Amino acid sequence: MSDFNYDSYCGLYCGGCSIIKAYQSGIKDPFACFWSDEAGAELKCHGCKTDTVFGGAAEFGGCAKCAIRACAREKGVERCLSCPDFPCQNFNPDTEITKFLFDKLPHMSTIATNLQTILSKGANSWLEEQEAQWKCPDCQTDYTWYATHCSNCGKDLGDLKPYKNTFDTSVFQMMKMPDPDELFKKKVVFKLEGMDLVSIQKDIAYSVEQGSELLLDLYFPPNQLPDKKLPLVVLVHGEAPVPNIKDSGSFTSLGRIIAASGFAAAAFNHRVLMQGAGIKDVISDIENLLAFLIDNADEYGIDKNQIAIWSFSMGAPFGLYAGMHNSPAYIKCMVAYYGFGDFTSICNLFGRTDEQAEEYSPVQLLSQHPDKIAPMLVARAGMDQIPTILNSLDNFIRAAIENNIHIDIYNHPTGVHAFEIMNDNPRTHEIIEKTLEFLKRHLTAL
Ligand SMILES: [Zn+2]
Repeated sequence: MSDFNYDSYCGLYCGGCSIIKAYQSGIKDPFACFWSDEAGAELKCHGCKTDTVFGGAAEFGGCAKCAIRACAREKGVERCLSCPDFPCQNFNPDTEITKFLFDKLPHMSTIATNLQTILSKGANSWLEEQEAQWKCPDCQTDYTWYATHCSNCGKDLGDLKPYKNTFDTSVFQMMKMPDPDELFKKKVVFKLEGMDLVSIQKDIAYSVEQGSELLLDLYFPPNQLPDKKLPLVVLVHGEAPVPNIKDSGSFTSLGRIIAASGFAAAAFNHRVLMQGAGIKDVISDIENLLAFLIDNADEYGIDKNQIAIWSFSMGAPFGLYAGMHNSPAYIKCMVAYYGFGDFTSICNLFGRTDEQAEEYSPVQLLSQHPDKIAPMLVARAGMDQIPTILNSLDNFIRAAIENNIHIDIYNHPTGVHAFEIMNDNPRTHEIIEKTLEFLKRHLTAL
């Protein structure tokens, strides 16, 4: 057994791991059963710090794909705690994402106390303590993260672990998300006649930031009359680890659907928080975009007095801010899909601080001049997997109602995040149809 190593970079103790122990003994706890029986993974591992590490299964993660492990190995650090960048974007035990994972996969919650022990007593003492922790006190047989009883003597292990004895299988549905390339190609599941006939003006530079052009695509209905000015729907994307998100299947298909409904649509790239932009930077990009479209409205045949903002996910608070801050008269309505209602939750999610987060949050703007806020439609993904997003959205909805705002709320009980591309079912179609009706009601074609 000498080639096994139970130490890790992040502070998880591999000696309690369901997968290593199943590999050694053939005894599988429910977690190992999930990986082998449902995910089809080979249960083979010698520990995080060895070269034989659990690879997971095709569409799921696994320790071999762990970004923390990869980072630590690349930097050559003994453990995250000894890294000068700790806590970093890859691993910060205090972020909402980590807390979410600790809740769904409670064996990971031991990392927090393990780090404390390593800091106070040193890694060797910690490893000795852990070796004792993960043995049945009655018969000294090893047990694992999600074993309920000792495999040898049957002792109830429930009280020996510092966390609840189950994991939430829904977390694996999150891991099962298609890879970013697949996701980028996915189109809105709803189709409209004429959407293949729309005309598109691509890659218009609306702003330059740090030497890079920020680009915009405009979608126009088929057979647009030359002197007719079209109401405009501006699409505000969320956080995404891909450049050029306006070219994703999601936005190219939605641009076509909106144009086929008789409006102009603007899909554009803005800077994102996860690549280091501040809240103010993103707000400024959207302001620049709107100013550009208003300045050039005549050239593009856009009615600059009839604009709707349709925002998504972490783009929602930015779209809502642009529509609500100072209540510009040209904003006729707003749509927000599965979005955050405040910036503070997003900052917590990324483990960062932003002094303006609260001040800029749309939930704060609701009470400032509620009678001037344009009608809004909010769609809620009932099965949203993004940590804290439903809480943030529900707080926004509650505050909107308390302030007696004109708000239409559509809940999608089986909808996951990005349900318009992920869930091809009647409720998705209904919500998109209702959104298009809402736009038609509040945007008047001249
Ligand atoms: Zn035992």
